[in-house]
Amino acid sequence: METKNSKLECSFCLKKQQEVEMIVSGAKAHICDECVENATKIITKELGFLSGDDEKISFDKNATEEFNYKPLDIKNHLDQYVIGQDDAKKVIAVAIYNHYKRLNQQIDEDEVEIEKSNVIMSGETGTGKTLLAKTVAKLLNVPFAVVDATVFTQAGYVGEDVESILSRLLQSADYNIKKAEQGIIYIDEIDKIGRKSDNPSITRDVSGEGVQQAMLKLLEGTEVLVPPQGGRKHPEQKMVKVNTQNILFICGGAFEGIDKVIGRRIQTSTIGFKNNDANNELKANELIQHVNAQDLRTFGLIPELLGRLPVVTYLMPLDKTALKRILTEPRNALVKQYKKLLEYENAEVEFEESGIDYIVQKAIDFKLGGRGLRSICEVIMTDAMFDLPSRKGKKKLVIDEKYAKEHIEKSKLSYLKVA
Ligand code: ADP
Repeated sequence: METKNSKLECSFCLKKQQEVEMIVSGAKAHICDECVENATKIITKELGFLSGDDEKISFDKNATEEFNYKPLDIKNHLDQYVIGQDDAKKVIAVAIYNHYKRLNQQIDEDEVEIEKSNVIMSGETGTGKTLLAKTVAKLLNVPFAVVDATVFTQAGYVGEDVESILSRLLQSADYNIKKAEQGIIYIDEIDKIGRKSDNPSITRDVSGEGVQQAMLKLLEGTEVLVPPQGGRKHPEQKMVKVNTQNILFICGGAFEGIDKVIGRRIQTSTIGFKNNDANNELKANELIQHVNAQDLRTFGLIPELLGRLPVVTYLMPLDKTALKRILTEPRNALVKQYKKLLEYENAEVEFEESGIDYIVQKAIDFKLGGRGLRSICEVIMTDAMFDLPSRKGKKKLVIDEKYAKEHIEKSKLSYLKVA
């Protein structure tokens, strides 16, 4: 029973009520919140995590032996969902392949230890970074979590601790620890946690370098005590021990302005890239292909972190052709989705070339990459999706430039400021 009686003291550490957050009283003894926490840690360490549902934690140890995808198979699978980005696909396919070879090697207790192949990707927003990571995880049938690096702070400060990354993975693994321990984590916006300044300053850099330091152990492989529900909202929850040794980390960021950094490094003058000359623009786009860890360092990522992300790759900005393909080609392409949706309403939808070109042009104007396509299509299609279900008989809808333009112009989307 909890009480505010100021004379109470913890029977374990003898701290007074005023010195701790809370004291829980039993029949003849009292215990403070700190001792409860310490005791929980000891119990968790000694007994492992007891979920009370042990059959849940029975992941087949040899599951990785079933992994029989060659890098080419992985790339072919990615091709069905992700348009372009061939270099990134190849690099990721090899990283995944080696990662699983490494897992199997541990079973064989081989002598040469293969290091983890965590990946870092640089590419504008909406170019398919998350999609790549997600598609790979789906193929491998392993738990997958996406986290945003900017929500973290160094332990003890307001914000989430980096360990909560693992809470998300646990949730996606349905709290099956062994399964989570072979999952994939995508950390977005890694470029936003750069060290704030080169000089070690008096004020702590709790959301920048502090977070990077905290991530090091996680990336390398360590045992971490994780609150399964995440955060500090459930202080009563039992901590779970998760080993990150076999978790693959894929980090991504937009690294805005990296083309100039690369340009300077390879001593190509970037002057003139800003003008609208098509040739120059192409060159600026191509620079990203030469990205390396050194360039990423200029964004304040510490060498220790980059050392733990040995595979560096990039995603190209999406041009008109790529956006058009995204709209129509992938297995779950937007155009296919709308057709299917309206098929249920006995309606046939036809996307004319002019309509598709218009949507693509808008996505380019709004600078949202592939992500913009969805919101643009939603605006165009909403009226039809509202009306058609209540109309009787067979229906036909043609999305051409005129139809698309009309709907975009009367929507709020047209107020989006184009930079
Ligand atoms: P980011 O690079 O910002 O992580 P996402 O992977 O989240 O971008 O992409 C957002 C959406 O845009 C995806 O869900 C997908 O619909 C579309 N998209 C972006 N790039 C591609 C691509 N290369 N191929 C297919 N779809 C893409």
